[in-house]
Amino acid sequence: MTRLAWGSATDVGRLRPANQDMLFTSDALLAVADGMGGHQGGEVAASVAIESLRRDFVEPTTDALVRAVQLANDAVVDRASDDPDLLGMGTTLCALAIVAVDGADRLAIVNVGDSRVYLLKGEGIEQVTDDHSLVATLERQGRLTRAEAAVHPQRNILTRALGIDARVMVDSWEVLPVVGDRYVLCSDGLFNEVDESRIAATSRKLADPTDLARELVRLANEGGGRDNITVVVVDVLDDDGHGLAGESAGTDVDRVVAAVSGEARAAAISRAAADSVSAPATVSARSERRAARPPRPRNFTWRVLFFVLAVVTVMGIGAIAVNYYGRHTYYVGFDADAVWIYQGRPGGVLWIQPEAIEDTHLTRADVPAATVAEIDKGKIEPTLDDAHRYVTNLYGQSPTPTTSAPAASPTTATVAPVGN
Ligand code: MG
Repeated sequence: MTRLAWGSATDVGRLRPANQDMLFTSDALLAVADGMGGHQGGEVAASVAIESLRRDFVEPTTDALVRAVQLANDAVVDRASDDPDLLGMGTTLCALAIVAVDGADRLAIVNVGDSRVYLLKGEGIEQVTDDHSLVATLERQGRLTRAEAAVHPQRNILTRALGIDARVMVDSWEVLPVVGDRYVLCSDGLFNEVDESRIAATSRKLADPTDLARELVRLANEGGGRDNITVVVVDVLDDDGHGLAGESAGTDVDRVVAAVSGEARAAAISRAAADSVSAPATVSARSERRAARPPRPRNFTWRVLFFVLAVVTVMGIGAIAVNYYGRHTYYVGFDADAVWIYQGRPGGVLWIQPEAIEDTHLTRADVPAATVAEIDKGKIEPTLDDAHRYVTNLYGQSPTPTTSAPAASPTTATVAPVGN
C-alpha cells in the first residue's frame, strides 16, 4: 500500500500585493492552483477550484480525478458569472492523487495550465506535466528553445486554464509509485526564478519535504520573487514509512508515465490542435485577461438581487426615520379659533400630517396676546406632558379662564388629519 509524505510552502513573493496561489494536501490528494484576475478574482478562482476538486474527488480512479477537475472548471465558471467583479478570473490546477488500477496503487497526475509537476529521481529532474502556455506551444513546435521559452516576455500567456470556458481539456498521467521517488508540484513563481538543475540539487540536500518546500520558496524570493510562489513536495513511502530521499533511489527504469484513460488520452492527443497559436480562443495573459475575453451576457444575478435588497432596506430605514420624526413630537396650535394639542409637526412631514388629539377648551381670545403668534405657528413641545404644561401655563395667564386645565381631565379626540 502506497503512502505519501509531503511538505508545502507558499509565499506572496516580493512584488505582488496578494497571494493568488492556493494549495491543498491530504493523504491521498495534493494540488496547486495559480489564480489570475483582478479584484481578488485570482484568489477566488484558485480557492473555488481547490475546494471543488477536494469535494468532488470521491473515488480513487484517474477518471474520477479528471472529472473532479472538470467540475472545478464548472465551479469557477459559475462563480465568475455570478459576480461582474470576478469576470475573467481563472486558475491553473495541477494535482497528484493515489488511485487504484486493477487492485494496484498508481499515482494519478492531472494538469491544466502552466503549474508543473516534476519527478525528482536520483540525480535527475523530469517535468511530468506539459505547460499549456504560448511559449510551451512554440517550444513544442520547435520555434523556441527551452532556454528561450524560460525568459520569453510572453511566458505568462496561457492556452488553457480553468474558468475560461464551459469545456476544459484535462491532461492526465498514471505513474507507478516507486519508493524514494519525490514529486514537486509548483506554480510558475518557482520555476521562473529557480532553474531546474538547482531545484534538483537542493532536493538532494534536503531529506525533509517541508524543509525542501521552504527552501525552494526562499530561493525563488532570492531570485527575484516576481510572482507568488507555491511548492508542494511529495515523497513516495512504503507502508512502513521508509523511502525518504537518499534512502532509496528506486530501480524502476521502465516506469509508466503516460497519458491515459479515454477522454484524457483524447485530450492529450488533440492538444497540439488546441494549443495552435493561430487560434487563440482560450489564450489568456495574467495581466491582460480582461481585455482578451469577451464579456459574458448578464441577466439576473445574485449581485442584482443583493443591490435591490440593499435599496429596499435603506428606503425602509428612511421611512422609519421620517415616521419617527413626523410623529414623535407635539405642538399647540389653533383649529380656527380653538386651541388644540396636535401630535406631529406643524405643516406635516412628507406624507405624515399632524393629528389634533386634545381640545384645550381655550380659544384665541383666552390666550395672552403675546403668545398668539407662536401658537399660530404651532408651539412645538417634545412630549405630550410638555404640551400639557404649556397649556396649563396659558390657563394661568388667561384673561378669562373658562374651565379647568385639560391636563387634569383631557378631552381626547381623534379627528381627521389637518393640513395647517
Ligand atoms: Mg504564478
